[in-house]
Amino acid sequence: ISLDPIYLQDVKNIIIGSIVNIEDITEKVRLENMRSDFVANVSHELKTPLTSISGFVETLKLNEDIDPQTRNRFLGIIESESNRLKRLIEDILLLSFIENKENSLVDSVNIYEVFIEIYDMTSYIAKSKNIKLTYEFSDKSIKVCSNRDYIKQVFLNLIDNAIKYTPENKEVHVHVSSLDGNICISVKDTGVGIPEEDIERIFERFYRVDKARSRDVGGTGLGLAITKHIVKSLGGNIRVKSELGKGSEFIVIIPQKNFL
Ligand code: ADP
Repeated sequence: ISLDPIYLQDVKNIIIGSIVNIEDITEKVRLENMRSDFVANVSHELKTPLTSISGFVETLKLNEDIDPQTRNRFLGIIESESNRLKRLIEDILLLSFIENKENSLVDSVNIYEVFIEIYDMTSYIAKSKNIKLTYEFSDKSIKVCSNRDYIKQVFLNLIDNAIKYTPENKEVHVHVSSLDGNICISVKDTGVGIPEEDIERIFERFYRVDKARSRDVGGTGLGLAITKHIVKSLGGNIRVKSELGKGSEFIVIIPQKNFL
């Protein structure tokens, strides 16, 4: 509640009343807290790789006669932490871009064509873990009104996660269909699964079930937050079904009224 009284006085300057503006600022406070949490998280996430980079650079500078094997190991760490920093900055910028362009529906996008564009890249990553990446489209002419890159990003994030959190020699299946006026994209894996208590939270920025695992597989903790924002900007929703140790299925529904 915000109290900022205006006093009413009579001709003799005697206060005869006051006007108080009462406003519910719960939502404002909630948004402000979210904003400051995000800034704190971003600072922490950026500082971690930076501290590591400057630490190893300093060590290399102070120890000129360090053996080549150790030098190469340190340089390798500096390289991977720099790449991590780059991915983080790209994801933070992408999230802020999407947040500011909620309604940038610009093109009639054929979902199958977009999927095929990213299939080569994702199946290459899947192959490196001997994961079988399969797909099925009930109709290859399904279209949605969207920014093309948004649909690409949704596929990339969900398939990339499915591969990241699935052990070697298992399977990931993508299924796209249109049902009751909606487009349905399902990405199903046979991976580690998500504990029930974490399911609601995985779409929050920087929330990871297992921070160390996410870091090891190159995650930024922003992929699902980005995906959810995109899907919402298209008027759709995203949900997940998961069983620990058995696998997860991410289901995206986008209304077809978005057709051009
Ligand atoms: P990250 O970059 O850490 O993968 P995301 O926002 O993409 O960040 O995902 C948030 C968290 O949700 C991940 O750290 C992981 O714990 C969990 N997660 C996402 N996708 C899957 C999946 N297919 N299987 C199991 N856990 C998943």
